[in-house]
Amino acid sequence: MTESYDVIVIGAGPAGYVAAIRCAQLGLHTAVIDDWLDAQGSPVLGGTCLNAGCIPSKALLDSSELYYRSLHECAEHGIRSDNVTIDIATMMARKQRVVGTLTKGIATLFQANDITWLKGHGCLLDNKRVRFTPHESGRNPETLDASNIILASGSQPVELDAAPLDGERIIDSTGALELPEIPQRLGVIGAGVIGLELGSVWRRLGAEVILLEAQDSFLPMVDEQISAAAFKQFTQQGLRIRLATRVVSTQLSAAEVRVHYVHGEDEQALTVDRLIVAVGRKPRSQNLFAPECNLLLDERGYVHVDEYCMTNLPGVYAVGDLVRGPMLAHKGAEEGVAVAESIAAGREISVHGNRIPSIVYTFPEIAWVGQTEQELRTLGNSIRTGMFPFAASGRAHAMEAPQGMAKIIADAETDQILGVHILGPWASELIAEAVLAMEFSASSEDIARTIHAHPTLSEALHEAALAVAGRAIHLGRRRMP
Ligand code: FAD
Ligand code: NAD
Repeated sequence: MTESYDVIVIGAGPAGYVAAIRCAQLGLHTAVIDDWLDAQGSPVLGGTCLNAGCIPSKALLDSSELYYRSLHECAEHGIRSDNVTIDIATMMARKQRVVGTLTKGIATLFQANDITWLKGHGCLLDNKRVRFTPHESGRNPETLDASNIILASGSQPVELDAAPLDGERIIDSTGALELPEIPQRLGVIGAGVIGLELGSVWRRLGAEVILLEAQDSFLPMVDEQISAAAFKQFTQQGLRIRLATRVVSTQLSAAEVRVHYVHGEDEQALTVDRLIVAVGRKPRSQNLFAPECNLLLDERGYVHVDEYCMTNLPGVYAVGDLVRGPMLAHKGAEEGVAVAESIAAGREISVHGNRIPSIVYTFPEIAWVGQTEQELRTLGNSIRTGMFPFAASGRAHAMEAPQGMAKIIADAETDQILGVHILGPWASELIAEAVLAMEFSASSEDIARTIHAHPTLSEALHEAALAVAGRAIHLGRRRMP
């Protein structure tokens, strides 16, 4: 049997499900094929982000922060919090409830928008056809037709030969979101975003955490002033971050993992109870298309697309982690919207915003948009910078969180904002103002002339903007223009 759709989307992560909803809003008859199964073997929507990424990791970050604060910070406020304990099973059950609420929410949105949810595997065939292999036992594969196809199959963790996963002691990020107890010694290979976020969760809960990072610089994509301050904060929290370290082999025993690594000239080893491998993710392009389609991939396995997310095949688009660019949920979602609007309009429509914010949800959080000072100086740009520390923010002190700083980089001549970098409490929320400002091509003067409520953390951005012109109010050493 062949069924025809205007659009078939393969993958229901944030790139695919958002694309499908927008297609349906625009009146297109839309089906989504997704093969994700939860721990009980039931199909669920939301992909990596909702089931094993953004949402469960933030749920655990919030639980662990609450625990840590109850244990270490209540006394400062005069709150007695003797005998604070943590029950990991309850923490995990809460995380799962949060995930369940959100994935069911997407199913409701699909129903409301008349989107057909096909539970199983999708494979692109030639001539805009898709083979759908249902999860349901006894149901035969079907071939479906569509005028347009959107590939949104996402990504999966990169594996390391030196540390093969056993799912018990050596685990990936998904395993790290489901540990049944607090490991006494936790090793993490990779001090990137996942390593820092999940390392923080288990550190706050009491594990000794060591991160082994291959590169000799810490968070090289982050502004150097911010990454240096973050490194100091994380080290003070007890995260041991060993740079320029290459894991060469691992030995598993029933209760622990021996990790052999090279640091400089030295070969060393350490023993941990659990080892998380968090060395990046790769596009999930295998088993996604039949060879006769001639779908073009790049040398790293990403589906090749142009600026409008069109593949080399007419009517076939690709979005999200499957294609070039940062592997971020909001980047994929915006691509999904643009593709849906292109299909409905019958002409190419660009992704709406081109300023993509990045965030590391540690404490303090790191958030940035635009270029770093080192990038701009390397390019020879003439710039001015303004920095304001949260140590001078009234709200940060009231919150007992005066760590970090906000930094604005502007063009020396035009004053247009080129980059904003924040290390601090709620940096994840504060960065939205900077993204909006940059989207509107604002100058640092624009932020400096905007009234920010007092006392708020956002005043740090205001003061950083004032500092670009040497006139921050709450900074001791002023450079008056
Ligand atoms: P995915 O979310 O990976 O979804 C792809 C879907 O397609 C999956 O359901 C998959 O099962 C399905 N699929 C794949 N192949 C097929 C096929 N052939 N047939 C049918 N179905 C198929 N990003 C952020 O922006 N913020 C965060 O805080 C954040 N935290 C993260 C934390 C962790 C631990 C991890 C691992 C990732 C995190 N990310 C975060 C990254 C984010 O999860 C991804 O960028 C995002 O999920 C990508 O969306 P996507 O729709 O492209 O793919
Ligand atoms: P990452 O690229 O952020 O970090 C991987 C780290 O592992 C890098 O620092 C890299 O140098 C290091 N590394 C690579 N090979 C190594 C080796 N053999 N030994 C030691 N270190 C090695 O990747 P990730 O942390 O795995 O996250 C994957 C993707 O998921 C990221 O691209 C990110 O965009 C996304 N993500 C985003 C968020 C967020 O937005 N807050 C959170 C988690 C994940």
